[in-house]
Amino acid sequence: MRQKQRKIEIGEIYGSLKVIGIFQDKPRKYTVQCLRCGKTYTTSGQNLLKYSSGCPDCRARDTIVDRYKPYTGKRFGYLEVLGFAGQGVRGAALARCLCHKCGREIVTTYSRLLYSGIKTCAQCAKENLYAGLDIHKKLITGGTDVAAIHNRKTNSNSTTGHKGVSKMKSGRYRAYIYFRRHQYHLGSYDEIEDAIEARKEAEKKVFGGFLEWYKASHPDEWKRYIGSRDK
Ligand SMILES: [Zn+2]
Ligand SMILES: [Zn+2]
Repeated sequence: MRQKQRKIEIGEIYGSLKVIGIFQDKPRKYTVQCLRCGKTYTTSGQNLLKYSSGCPDCRARDTIVDRYKPYTGKRFGYLEVLGFAGQGVRGAALARCLCHKCGREIVTTYSRLLYSGIKTCAQCAKENLYAGLDIHKKLITGGTDVAAIHNRKTNSNSTTGHKGVSKMKSGRYRAYIYFRRHQYHLGSYDEIEDAIEARKEAEKKVFGGFLEWYKASHPDEWKRYIGSRDK
């Protein structure tokens, strides 16, 4: 392996590294300075030539930048990745993003983008949550509590123990649903099961969209909400 080695002189520059001294003779090691960050360290002649793109820290950073480069320009919901923004707590790779919902530029971690389902900046997420709660409030004042619909076990306001199903004088069962202060008749049935089914069907139509949207856009809130209702 000991072929004619290139003679390395003090003051020479290899890639981003400048030789500023000879650290030791046997084995030969050089003191070099990284021209990218200014750091000085010692290395062998072989490694100096092989890894001349920067000091170990700068090269480690290059590796991370390369790893996340493919995500630049990609969209995660409303968030467009503009580029690598350094490293945060515990070395987490940070991404600079543009929130297309509000136009704000934010910094978040790549892992949050890739694994948490984040779709907007925190500010938009908050506003979206308030909008959701607002809709929810309207639904409650409209006469039907979404959570009560979700957990159908509790019910006290009807003659049958099933929300939206009442027993008529004729002995038949009538199904109905309240939506925004109006009662909507859903038919009368000989069997209570049919009335319950009719009511369920209507719930799906009226609230299905909202619930699906709320669950998808606020999974944590939804879990907390349902969790607290179940207890
Ligand atoms: Zn460096
Ligand atoms: Zn936003």
